[in-house]
Amino acid sequence: MLGQVVGRFAPSPSGPLHFGSLVAALGSCLSARSQGGRWLLRIEDVDVPRSVPGAADGILQTLERFGFEWDGPVVWQSRRTADYREAFERLQAAGHLFPCACTRKEMADSALARDGTRRYPGTCRNGLAPGRSARAWRLRVPPGEVTFDDALQGRVVEDVLADVGDFVLLRADGLFAYQLAVVVDDAEAGVSEVVRGADLLDSTPRQILLQRLLGLPQPAYAHLPVAANAAGEKLSKQTLARAVDGMTPAVLLVEVLDFLGQMPPAGLADSGLLAVWAWSLANWAPARVPRLRLALAPADV
Ligand code: GLU
Repeated sequence: MLGQVVGRFAPSPSGPLHFGSLVAALGSCLSARSQGGRWLLRIEDVDVPRSVPGAADGILQTLERFGFEWDGPVVWQSRRTADYREAFERLQAAGHLFPCACTRKEMADSALARDGTRRYPGTCRNGLAPGRSARAWRLRVPPGEVTFDDALQGRVVEDVLADVGDFVLLRADGLFAYQLAVVVDDAEAGVSEVVRGADLLDSTPRQILLQRLLGLPQPAYAHLPVAANAAGEKLSKQTLARAVDGMTPAVLLVEVLDFLGQMPPAGLADSGLLAVWAWSLANWAPARVPRLRLALAPADV
């Protein structure tokens, strides 16, 4: 018998909740709950310098105001360094990591970077040049393609070594990288399905590689369409998408349902927040979610 579905929402506290994060929150929640599953909440504050003071509390308050109910305590990545270190040391002991001395500037100056690729050129892969010292630690990415079937985007194939190269797991500032944290956290929490924005689709092959090297189970993946503004830019905290705090929850949730292709009935928002949730849980239809990686958000967000 299959175990219980466990989904999660994992916002980074780099600003207030915006339309795009609400899409990921609602999509992941409805997916898990409609299968009788659990839905967890994790604050991804592993990147301390990019975390905005007060943003996490603001996100939690906004989620509550929108009627989200998560299972168990909120997990904070900033408190889980010991677990990341343990996974890092396991990879290190197995010979999967190497120290890297390259600075950002050196990488930007490298010929490959000039070609417009963000691939690590492999400079330190076979040892540090004399006189250079380690700044970061990278994964020695094995050659070959990583393939997985995304429930919404279909088959995804990536040659991580060719496209990304050896990626950083321990940063020059001493922080563990998001890719490692997310894999360790999802496994620790028993997450069985990752439903999130398609802007993270190209991180998934790296995360699957790490799961394999660490012997962790691979969750199912579904990458939701990403909300963009009229200029085609992804809505994110960085593009200063309007925060959703001041908006009426029932109205906005119905807009998210619409964005996710769920065809909410006219007038649903007028029936109130509880009615919107009841309708959503009873009618969630993943087959209706548009596969587009970019789609326009409602004009007023
Ligand atoms: N923290 C990431 C974000 O806010 C999401 C990571 C994930 O869902 O795996 O974009």
